[in-house]
Amino acid sequence: MRQTTYHARWPQEVGIRRPPRIAWDLEDELQAAQAMLLEDAHLSNWNSKIVGHVADVRTGLAYTFFQKYTIPLWAYRQGPELFLYYVAHELSHLVCQEHGHGKRFYEVFFKLCPAWAYHHESGYKPRNYVRYGKEFGALK
Ligand SMILES: [Zn+2]
Repeated sequence: MRQTTYHARWPQEVGIRRPPRIAWDLEDELQAAQAMLLEDAHLSNWNSKIVGHVADVRTGLAYTFFQKYTIPLWAYRQGPELFLYYVAHELSHLVCQEHGHGKRFYEVFFKLCPAWAYHHESGYKPRNYVRYGKEFGALK
């Protein structure tokens, strides 16, 4: 979930030791999840601009310069709830076009993430999660 902008080709020169080992058999499933989340958030116009891969990486990444992201294979294997949360998190970085996890990030996140999966974010950036969740009416 680290968010970084790399001015380099992807994935060969993005500052990681080796290109992520992409789970090509999960491309369709990730694409379907992305399209569904964007559609439900009325952000479908972003769907054709963003490309994601499930990959054997430790943490997900959003490459804002390329509008690409990765979801770790371990998160996919945890089941659909964590998987959808993770996709929503990385998509939020690319739609909000802002570094880190500030106000604009959460404005998009609370639109994209299904409400029943919000809680995964609470363990990640708890203060911003609560602050902006209340501000945007997603949390009581
Ligand atoms: Zn993040």
